[in-house]
Amino acid sequence: MAVPDASVRVRIAPSPTGFAHLGTASTALYNVLFARPRQGAFALRIDDTDLERNRPEYEALIYEGLQWLGLDWDEGPDKGGSYSPYRQSERLDIYKEHAAKLLAEQKAYRCYCTQEELEAERRQAQFEKRPYKYSRRCLTNPPTDRTEFAVRFKVPGGKVVFTDMIRGEMTFDAELLGDFILMKSDGYPTYQFASPVDDALMKITHVIRGEEHLSNTPYQLMIVDALGYDRPVAYAHMPLILAKDGAKLSKRKHPESNLMLYREQGYLPEALINYLALLGWNPGTAQEIFTFEELERVFSFDRVQHAGARFDWEKLNWINGEWIRAMDDGELARRLQPFLPDLDEATIMRAVSALKTRMTRLADATEYLDYLWKEPEVQPLDAEQASRIQMAVDALEDVPWEPEPIETALEGVVERTGLSKNKLYTPIRLALTGKKVSLPIHYTIALLPKEVALARLMRAGHS
Ligand code: GLU
Repeated sequence: MAVPDASVRVRIAPSPTGFAHLGTASTALYNVLFARPRQGAFALRIDDTDLERNRPEYEALIYEGLQWLGLDWDEGPDKGGSYSPYRQSERLDIYKEHAAKLLAEQKAYRCYCTQEELEAERRQAQFEKRPYKYSRRCLTNPPTDRTEFAVRFKVPGGKVVFTDMIRGEMTFDAELLGDFILMKSDGYPTYQFASPVDDALMKITHVIRGEEHLSNTPYQLMIVDALGYDRPVAYAHMPLILAKDGAKLSKRKHPESNLMLYREQGYLPEALINYLALLGWNPGTAQEIFTFEELERVFSFDRVQHAGARFDWEKLNWINGEWIRAMDDGELARRLQPFLPDLDEATIMRAVSALKTRMTRLADATEYLDYLWKEPEVQPLDAEQASRIQMAVDALEDVPWEPEPIETALEGVVERTGLSKNKLYTPIRLALTGKKVSLPIHYTIALLPKEVALARLMRAGHS
């Protein structure tokens, strides 16, 4: 779909009501992939009008998560920009003025109904099996004895038509939409009001957000029209990310919705970006590994699917492993450091090439290497295993302490004795690491100081 690209401006508007959500990262990514190649601006607006659930520490997590992924914004609460402030709680006067304008022009009205009265209306509609729409009681017959009110938008009716870059032209019948609240009685705007006001004032040209907001768009466009502002050029409603079981990813039920989990487990930001891009979009070729620059070049909304996208750990793990294997050793060592606080740089560097062949996530390195700083649990070995270990000790005693000569020495034992590698290496592994799975044997041995390795082996050889 052709998109005019002069002065593209996009935004995300996450709510700081919990840990940073994977969906926020995915929405940010698609915004950036759209805006950057067009030299557009990307704004971060904090949607914090839900007084009870907002926390500053959650806002900090949003920054941290997006920065970790390299999804940097051009304008935001921490950076400023031409359309400050970027926190909705600091824009209350703006919403009030806009609501006053709509009231003055009779495009909105004061609604004095209580929660109980509205609930009763809703129940009545349910009982009569008709879709609920506000009765307009306060428009036609407002009470005279009440003072507390909300501001309600008067839906003008007709049709709302807009372009969605993924779904094409969308038409909604506004006759079916009831009048809705713009400002609550506590002076706070609803999301439905604040969002289009800000999009208009911040000159957002393309609204790219999750599919759950598709049904909000006609409401928001009616507000833009009523205020006499220009509409955004187009919308894009991205497919929902679904859990493996097909349910919508929820903060409460699905730990995989927590963006920070990926950093903690040692997914590389490059790999998560790569995976998130493919979750919902396909390049139309067999290519699966993409750098950010490649994504910027090939991404388009034409190839974004309509249906929800199921989260697939296997694919993410595969992509992460590919990124790990392709990474320069020095860089990988640097990224491993936080996962291996007990090891110095030189030791990590010596382990890197072996780790590369085994690791799916950086956090796996801890499990592979903890025998370097912890005494392994002693594993029971039988007499035969003990004697094999003794053979290894004899072969290793005079060997230079590097992976290759160690490997050659062990292969010598295999040749001389006719033992299988497995029969020789398993007891060595158990004696050195306490585990059945380890890095390739010659690395497992070489990473330990010679005297420590031999001492552990001799202890096991005499058991
Ligand atoms: N706070 C909303 C969300 O995070 C913003 C939706 C929008 O982009 O308009 O889903």
